[in-house]
Parts: sequence; C-alpha cells; structure tokens
Amino acid sequence: MRNGDPDNKSLSGPSWEENIRRVVPYVPGEQPPVKDNIIKLNTNEFPYPPGPGVQKALQSLDADKLRLYPHPDAEPLSSAIADSLGVGRDQVFTGVGSDDVLSIAFLTFFNSGAPVLFPDITYSFYEVWADVYRIPFEKVPLDEGLHIVKEDYFRENGGIVIANPNAPTGISESEDISWFEDIVRNNPSSVVIFDEAYVDFGGCSALPLVNKYDNVLVVRTFSKSRAFAGMRIGFGVGSEKLIRYMKDVKFSINSYTMNRAAIELGLSVLSDEDYFRKTVARVVSTRERTKKELESLGFETTDSKTNFIFCRHKTVPAARLYEELRQEGIYVRYFNRPRIDNYMRITVGTDEEMERLCQFLGSIL
Ligand SMILES: *Cc1c(COP(=O)(O)O)cnc(C)c1O
Repeated sequence: MRNGDPDNKSLSGPSWEENIRRVVPYVPGEQPPVKDNIIKLNTNEFPYPPGPGVQKALQSLDADKLRLYPHPDAEPLSSAIADSLGVGRDQVFTGVGSDDVLSIAFLTFFNSGAPVLFPDITYSFYEVWADVYRIPFEKVPLDEGLHIVKEDYFRENGGIVIANPNAPTGISESEDISWFEDIVRNNPSSVVIFDEAYVDFGGCSALPLVNKYDNVLVVRTFSKSRAFAGMRIGFGVGSEKLIRYMKDVKFSINSYTMNRAAIELGLSVLSDEDYFRKTVARVVSTRERTKKELESLGFETTDSKTNFIFCRHKTVPAARLYEELRQEGIYVRYFNRPRIDNYMRITVGTDEEMERLCQFLGSIL
C-alpha cells in the first residue's frame, strides 16, 4: 500500500499521527554508567546493598522454575507483606515498583469528571499518569513554607493524591494521624491515596486508616528504604473492596506482572528486618549530619524525613551548583520548575560520599 506516500493524497486520509495518544513522559533521574569515581545522589536509591538474606536467596534461585508463569497475585510475597504489616491478605496489591501500583490506582479510581487534586510541588509522575489516562486534575499550591494546606482538599474532587513525606520537599505533614484522617473524613466520595515511598525514614503513616475507611490506599515501595530499586517491588494497602477493584483492572491488562525472581527475592528482603532497621538508622544519622554541614556552607534545608535533602544556597543559584557538581562526577537532582528552581535534591549516600560532596561544595563556595 502507498498509504504513507505523501504524493498520493487520494489514498492517504488523515495521518496516523493525528490519532495517537500524545503524552509528555516523566523524566527519571539520569543513570550514568556505573564507574568508581561517580557519586550518584540523584534518584534516592539506598546507599547500602540489600541484606544477607537476599544474597542467600539469590544463590538458591531455581532456574528450572522459570519455565512456569509466576503467581498472578505475586504470592507468597503479597501475603508476607500483609503479615508484616498486620493487615489481611486480601488487602495488599503488589506491583512492579510503586509506580506500577500508582498507575493502576489512577486508572481504577479516577474516573469522574471532577479534577483529581495533588500539590503543585510533589512527585511529578502524578500529572503524567493523569495526562496519559486523560484524567482531569488540579495542582493545589503548597503554602510558602512548602506545606500542604489540608483544608484546600475539602472540596469536590475526583480523587486525592498526597505523598507523605512529600517529594521533593522531604517534608512530613504531621506526627498526628488525625491530620491525615481529616482529609479522608472530608472526602467520602473519592479515593484518597497516600504515597509513602519514604515513610520508613521518618514521618507519620496513614496505614491505620485503611481498616477504618474503605476509600484509602496507602502505597509503599522496596525501592528506597529496602535497597531494592533494581528489582522493582511496590505495594498498595487498602480495604479488600478497594484492592479487588485494582486487581480487576490489573487482570484486564497483564496478569503476570511480578516475575518469579522478584517474588522470591522480595520475600527474602522481609527476612532481613534487623539489617533494614540498622541501615535505615544509619541513613537518617548521615542525613542529619550532612544537613548541618550544608547549613554551615550557607545552605537552607527543609526538615526532611526522607533519604534526601532538599536545599538551596543563600547566594549561589542551584542550576550553577548542579552543573559544577556534575562536572565533578557528583550527580544530584535539579528541577527547573516554578517555585523550586533554586533548590537541589540530594540523595543521602554513604558518609564517605556525603563528605566528598560537602568538601567539593566547600571548595567552590
Ligand atoms: C521513588 C518514588 C516512587 C516510585 O518508586 P518505585 O521505584 O516505582 O517503587 C513513588 N513515589 C514517590 C514519591 C517516589 O519518590
């Protein structure tokens, strides 16, 4: 056929390109080639390796089993996650990273004509999913101190998404669960999602609300605090009904999303609880120490409850610092977006890496 031939107008109707689903994709942090001298502090990965249980499980993976499809509900991992949190086994939806869980949740729950609400400064994937699924949304401004004003979410909407602690600000909204419950109580007609990718590093979890309200989804990941970004494991916790709706949508797209190796290794992560607590505590203490050093270099920082530091220098523009760090092989994240274009988001690495970062900044400031 000559349908693509531009000279043959009579056969060619409108171009196929007029009818594609056009989207502006999410841009993940750069993944430079792994080299000895590079310090990678730009995608909030964990600085320490997974624990000893994972090493052992990796060695005993059975290649023969790879002939078989994995369990469609990612069992026994989903049940192990449920048991570790003290929720029912039908209350967990396991996905290929929490991005997968969030994407399915957007597709499942946000179907009204009313706009889905989330902060103007938050995980930038939310608006990308809204866009690709043609979901109307409205970005609600954070206040001057980069805090969420919860009353702004007490109005008609098609759903609510709150990252807590928030990214890239690092701020956790409250130590009191009633702050979160207020948002849920005022929104009985929509699903409220709490994205808790960073909650293991500090901040208050909304998890207890899933047994009190059937319209709450709490989403977490193994990518940050569990040192498992490369394996892609995330999960959502909600009422049985809520989770069932998500599974219906998932099984309408791809039944076998979690591969066998990820399920096996994910189980072993849960067996490394001591290691998990110790290494997370180490990251938190490195965070606090680095914050003080950055402040002594003239940076202002937010009260981060995560594994990253959100900071701006009192006099030197972030874009310049970001570029100079990059030249030095130190990768941090810079967002050229309104209100935060003078901030850098710096993942908390090892003590040694943070020391090198601070020394270099000290040498150019
Ligand atoms: C990192 C991150 C995610 C996604 O993590 P996965 O690797 O897909 O599990 C989701 N939400 C926020 C706020 C994040 O920072």
